[in-house]
Amino acid sequence: MCLKKTAVLFLSLLLFLTQLFFARTVGAELTTKEALTTPETYSYLLLEEAGKKSGTESVKLIEKAIKVSPNDPAAYFELFDKTLSLQPQEFFHSLNHLFKGIAVYPRSFWWFFNLTGILSGALLTALVLIPIIIALTRLPLDIPLMAHEIQENTRTAGYLLVLIPSLLGPYYFLASLCFLSFLHLKERPRYAGYLLLIALMFAPLPTAYLNSYLSASSSPEIKAAVAVNEGRSNAYAIETLKAKKEIPLKFSYALALQKVGRIRAAAGEYRKLISLKKDPRFYINLGNCYAAMKRLNKAMDMYKTSISIKPLPSAYYNLSMLAREKLDFTAGDGYFQQASNMDFDRIAQFRELRNDTKTLDLMDEGLSTRELLLFAVGQGLKDAKIFSLNGPLVLMAFSLLLIVMLFMSRDSTAMATRCRKCGKLYCAACERRMPRGGMCTECFRSMISFESNPAERVDTIVKTHNYLKKRRRILNILSFTIPGITLLYGGRVFSGIFFSFIFLFSASALILSEFFRFNIYPYNHSWLTFVLALILILSYLSGNLYTMRRLKKGWL
Ligand SMILES: [Zn+2]
Ligand SMILES: [Zn+2]
Repeated sequence: MCLKKTAVLFLSLLLFLTQLFFARTVGAELTTKEALTTPETYSYLLLEEAGKKSGTESVKLIEKAIKVSPNDPAAYFELFDKTLSLQPQEFFHSLNHLFKGIAVYPRSFWWFFNLTGILSGALLTALVLIPIIIALTRLPLDIPLMAHEIQENTRTAGYLLVLIPSLLGPYYFLASLCFLSFLHLKERPRYAGYLLLIALMFAPLPTAYLNSYLSASSSPEIKAAVAVNEGRSNAYAIETLKAKKEIPLKFSYALALQKVGRIRAAAGEYRKLISLKKDPRFYINLGNCYAAMKRLNKAMDMYKTSISIKPLPSAYYNLSMLAREKLDFTAGDGYFQQASNMDFDRIAQFRELRNDTKTLDLMDEGLSTRELLLFAVGQGLKDAKIFSLNGPLVLMAFSLLLIVMLFMSRDSTAMATRCRKCGKLYCAACERRMPRGGMCTECFRSMISFESNPAERVDTIVKTHNYLKKRRRILNILSFTIPGITLLYGGRVFSGIFFSFIFLFSASALILSEFFRFNIYPYNHSWLTFVLALILILSYLSGNLYTMRRLKKGWL
C-alpha cells in the first residue's frame, strides 16, 4: 500500500517534470521566433521579466534585451538603473549605459519624436511667455508715458494701430505687444526688441512641428508603420495600413505581410511598389519573398537589380545565403565578404540572433527612423497654408514692418520720459529745457544746479526719496518671482530676457516631459527630468543672485 502510494507520487512527479521540461522548450522556441519577427516586443517582455528579478539575473536579462533590440533606449536606462552604484568606478561604468541610451534616441522613432516634441513645445512656450512677461512688466510703466504723449500730440495715438492685426492671430498680438513694450526703451535695450521681433517671426516653425508631432502621436497609420519597421507589431499594420496611397505606408504594409508569412500577398504589394518607385529595398524584399517561394534564381535576379540601383549590404548578404544554398560556396563567400565590408555591425548582429536557427534567414529592408520622422512631420505639415493671411509669411512681413517702425522712432522727440529721481513724466513739449541725466527740471534745479530755494529743495528730496523707496520695494518683491523679471522692470532687457528664457524653457520642458511620452509608456525620459530640474534650480539661483547684486549696488 505504502509502496503503491509512493509509486503514484513518484510517477506524477515525473509527469509533472517532463511536462515542465517540454513546456520550457516550447516556450523557448516561441520566444526565439518572437525575437526575430517582433524584437522590440520581445525585448520589452525581457525588460518586464528583469524588473521582477534582482541582481545579476536581471542584468543578464536586460543585456539580452539590448542584444535583441539594440536601438531601444529603454533597455539601456534599465541597465543604468540596475547597475547604479556609489563606487566611483562602477558609477562611471553605469553612467556609460545612460549615455548609450541617450545616444540611440535618433534610432528610435518614438523616443526621438517625443524628445523633439518636448523641446519644440518648450521653445514655443518660452517664446510666447517672454513677450507677455515683458508687456506685463514694461507696459504699466509705459502706458502713462503713452497717455502723456497722446495728451500733447494726438497723432502719437497712431502707434496703437499696430494692435489691429492682432485679429489675425495670437502671434500678431504678441508682436504688437513687443513693439509697444520697446517703444520707450532707448539704445541698447531697444536692440533686444529687434531681436525678440525676429525670434517671433519664426514662432510658426516650432508651432508647425508641435502640431505635426501631436497629430502623428495620435495617428493610427504612423503608429502602425513605426510598429512594423521597429519590430513591435505586425498585426496592427495589416489591419490599419491596407490600401493606403502613401509609399511609406504601402511599404510598411507589405513588410508586415511578409513578416507574418503571407508571402504571396507581400510579393504582390512589392510589385505594385516597384511600379511606383525604383527603390532597391523593394527589390530586396521581393527577392526574399521569391526565396521563400523556393524561386531562388528569380530571387537572385532581384538582389542584382537592387545592387544596380544602389548597393546595400543586405542584397550582398542575401546573395551569399542563396549562393550557399545552391552549393556555390566560392560565390557565397565573396558576397558575404562584400556585405560585411559594407556594414559589419549589422551583419554581425543579424547573425548573432540567428545562430541557432537552421532555416534560411534573409535580411529584410525597412524604413529608417529618419524616413519615418520625415514622413510623420510631412503628414502634419500637409495642410499648412504658408501664403494665407494668418500664415507665417504675412506674420514675417508684419514683424519686419514693426522692426522698421521701432528703428525709425528711436530718436523721436515726441517721446515722453520718466524722471529718474522723482518719477515725474515730461516731454520736449512741456519741459522748456531738456536737462541731461534723465531728470526733470525740478530735480535738476534742486540737486545739480542748486537754483531753487531751500524749501523747494527739501520738498523735491522728500518726493525723490519716497519714489525711489517704492520702486526699490517693487524690485525686491519681483526678484523672488521668475528670474529676469526684475531686470526687465529695471530696463536691463538683454539680461532679463536671458534669465527668464532659460527659466521658462526648462520649466515648460520639465512639465511637458511628463506628458509627452506617447508610445514609450511605461518608460520616461528621467535623465531629461533630472537635467531640466538642475537647470531650473541653477537658473533661478543665478538669476536672482545676479539681480540682487545689481539691486544692492543700485544699478537697477
Ligand atoms: Zn524729477
Ligand atoms: Zn509733456
